[in-house]
Parts: sequence; C-alpha cells; structure tokens
Amino acid sequence: MSAVFTQDPQPGGEGRAIADRLLVAGARVAGAACGEALLAQGRTVTVYDREHSERLAALAERGARTVAADRFDAALLDDVDQVVLSPGFPPHHPIALAARERGLDTYSEPELAWRLRGPDAPRWLAVTGTNGKTTTVTMLAAMLAAAGLRSAALGNIGEPLVFAANGPYDVLAVELSSYQLHWSRLLAPAAGAILNLAPDHLDWHGGYEAYAGAKTAVWRGGTAVANLDDPAVADLAERSGAKVIGFTLDEPAPGCFGVADGHLIDRTGPEPVRICPVADVRPAGTHNVANALAAAALASQAGVGPEALARAIRTYTPEPHRNVTAAEMNGITWIDDSKATNPHAAAAALAAYDSIVWIAGGQLKGVDVDELVARFAPRMRAAILIGQDRAQVAESLARHAPGLPVIALDGEDDAVMTDVVATAAAHARPGDTVLLSPAAASFDMFDSYAHRGDAFTAAVRQNLHMDEPSETS
Ligand code: ADP
Repeated sequence: MSAVFTQDPQPGGEGRAIADRLLVAGARVAGAACGEALLAQGRTVTVYDREHSERLAALAERGARTVAADRFDAALLDDVDQVVLSPGFPPHHPIALAARERGLDTYSEPELAWRLRGPDAPRWLAVTGTNGKTTTVTMLAAMLAAAGLRSAALGNIGEPLVFAANGPYDVLAVELSSYQLHWSRLLAPAAGAILNLAPDHLDWHGGYEAYAGAKTAVWRGGTAVANLDDPAVADLAERSGAKVIGFTLDEPAPGCFGVADGHLIDRTGPEPVRICPVADVRPAGTHNVANALAAAALASQAGVGPEALARAIRTYTPEPHRNVTAAEMNGITWIDDSKATNPHAAAAALAAYDSIVWIAGGQLKGVDVDELVARFAPRMRAAILIGQDRAQVAESLARHAPGLPVIALDGEDDAVMTDVVATAAAHARPGDTVLLSPAAASFDMFDSYAHRGDAFTAAVRQNLHMDEPSETS
C-alpha cells in the first residue's frame, strides 16, 4: 500500500497515508501533540517515553496505551503499522532500527502534520539550514501578515504543526530541522529554502553527507530557494532538479534575489525591483540580510509584493538571544548572541563587529573551533571562556593569537556569569562590542541557550547598575 501513498501527494489525499495503529516515540511537546492528534482521528495509539510525565498520563486518559521504560522493548512494534519519532531518536536508535527491520513507515511530527492535511489546508513555505531558521521563518511570517495573509511561524516555535495543519491560515511559515526532514517522505512544501550548510549534528546523522542530504527534502515540492553564496547549497540546488530561485549578497542574476546599490533586490521579474535599503534589516549582520532575502524569495511565492516585504522588514522584531543588544553604555555595546551554539553561527556574529571582547565556550559537540578562532582572533581585544570545552578554545586561541588576553573562568554553574561580565568590563574600551556568541551548546551549565542569554543580560544590567530604580519611578 505504501507505494500508492508515495504517488499520491495531492492535498487531501495524504490522510490515507496514516495507518490505523501507530507507535509515537517520545512524549514531549511534539510527541504528545502527535498522540493527541492521532487519537482525535480515531487511530489506535501507543506512546512510548523513557520516563513518566504528566503528558503521558494525559494521553493515557484520552485512550492511548502508554509505556514508560528505560529500555525500549521491540515487542512494542508487534501491533503497530507505523512509527512517529520525536527528534531525539536518531536513525541508529534501537526503535528506528527495529522499525526498519520490520519495514514500518517511520516519520516525524511535520510529516504527520502534512499527512493530516485536508482539502482546504494552508500551503507550506518551509525553511531549513544550519543556522538562521527561526529568524527567517519569523521574518517570513511577518511578510505574509503584511500582505494580509493569515499566517503563523511554526516548527520550533508556536503551536505544534499537527494542530495548525488544518488551521485557519492561508500559508504557514514552517521551520524544519534536519532531523524532521530525515524522517519525512511525502511532505512537499510549495517552496522550501536552504539557508546554509555547515557541519552540525553529525553524531545524529552519522556524517555530513547524510546531514546535507536530509535537508534537500525541503525542496521536494519542486521549488528550491537556495543560498548561492554557500557552495554546498548551490551545488545541491543545481543537482536537485527543482526550479531554483537563488539568493545572494551580491548583485543578483536574472531569476534571483540579491543586493545592489545598498538595496535588497528582486530580479525574478522582467525588471529588477528594489525592496528596501539593506540598513533596514535587523538584527545587524550580513547573515540577517541573507535571511531576509530568503524570506522575501519564499514570500514572493505566495504573491507578496515589494511594499509588503519592505514594511515587514522595517517593522520586524528580532527574536531574543540572536545578536540582540543587551545594553549600550560608555561607548561599549553588550550583545547577547547566546543562540550561537555552533561555530558557523558564531562566525556570523563575529563578522559583524570590529573590536570584540568575545565570550565563548560550553559544549562543542565534537565540532572544531580552530578555523573560527584563526579567522576572527585579529578582531579580538580579549576572550573570556567558560564551560566544559573552554580548554579546547583556549588552546586554539594560544595557537592563533598568542598575545591575546584569554581568561578561562572555572565556575560550574550560571553564577559565573557575574565574573564573566566583570572581566569583560575590565577589558572593554569605548567602541568595543562585548559579544556573548559561544559557538557551543549551553547544557553543561544552563538549562538552555535562553537561560544562558538571560543570565548574561541580568549580569550586564547589574554590572552597569541599570536595575536600580530611577528617581521618578
Ligand atoms: P536556527 O533556528 O537555525 O537555530 P536562529 O535564527 O535561531 O537559527 O539563529 C541561530 C544563531 O545563528 C544565532 O546566533 C544567529 O545570530 C545566527 N544566525 C542567524 N542567521 C544566520 C545565518 N544565515 N548564517 C549564520 N548564522 C546565522
């Protein structure tokens, strides 16, 4: 039967591609939403998670069979036709391996959302890439809204996709990770963008080729928005067989979006069309200009015109912890870019400032920082290092910038942020940027990148005495 489903990508036809008996593996936000959506469809649902939780209990109450166990027992697949996997389950996980051995169709939450679509379901415009996904989908949603379309930014943010798939929207702006795309087969957005590709999550995918290959599923619908400045993306686009709409920070060729005379340009029509000045794009940094171009290319596929694009870019509110100014005082700018959890993201921020006191470190996840350090050390006034892999960053700095003041702070918990900020304040000079852009994950010291960014901002405000009530308040 699955062969029939594969050839049946029409909206409204996919519902039949959902089996009657499913196992949902993982009961966090996405998994629990999948369980709920499937129960509402009258499917027989088993939900497995490592541990008990309120979410699991709520699903049991609604009629799911729930199993909480440290080890996964393959017998759980005995009465099951399909498996819905949460992002935490890599292809080499025992569940994935057992499902494959039995030939079970195995897929992710966005794929389920896609299969749940009815005849009037909203179209999808999708975004993937190593970095910039959330920024781009929120820009895209703003552009769609500026044109009067009913839309929402979904994926990592907002309501679960399975609930929005048939919601009151015209177009959805959907962020898709490599994990979710790996576990997809029918999902085929009206247009999809790949923003960039750099090594990340290699453990999960088992290698760079598999990671990059998974991302190309975002183009399955046949229209490929592609970053022409990223050779890996440009190469994949060329080989994709899809209709390619390229974007570049240079002057665009016909059929592409790009930049000329200080403006974002749409060259997909007969004449080049100016969208808005580059200076209108926020947050700062050329990478965000690239994100805005990708969002504009996607929005134009939904018929959004240049005025609406310009208005959305001008009024866009940046997402927190992504190159956001935490404070400006005495000529020193303090920037929270805690979301930079890999070197590729940190490179984007480091490239945006000239004289930097860099705050970095955390969990490098097996990724090398040497190239990043070699490239940006000349812009640094000092580096302050924290977290599990600080020694690795320190060694790299010692090699590439022997004279640079490097201070590694030993604290194991987030209280160390107070020392980090005091040390940064002691080194920064007027005109400098103190940049928290760690190039590493935060989980060794913090609950999340957001917690790390909040701790930084709180410490900055305290250090600068910005929290004291003013006389008028
Ligand atoms: P994602 O959702 O892919 O993690 P975000 O928009 O949340 O992406 O941004 C993650 C980090 O990457 C932030 O530090 C941000 O400043 C940086 N970043 C955003 N866009 C890009 C880009 N196009 N290239 C490189 N880094 C980027």
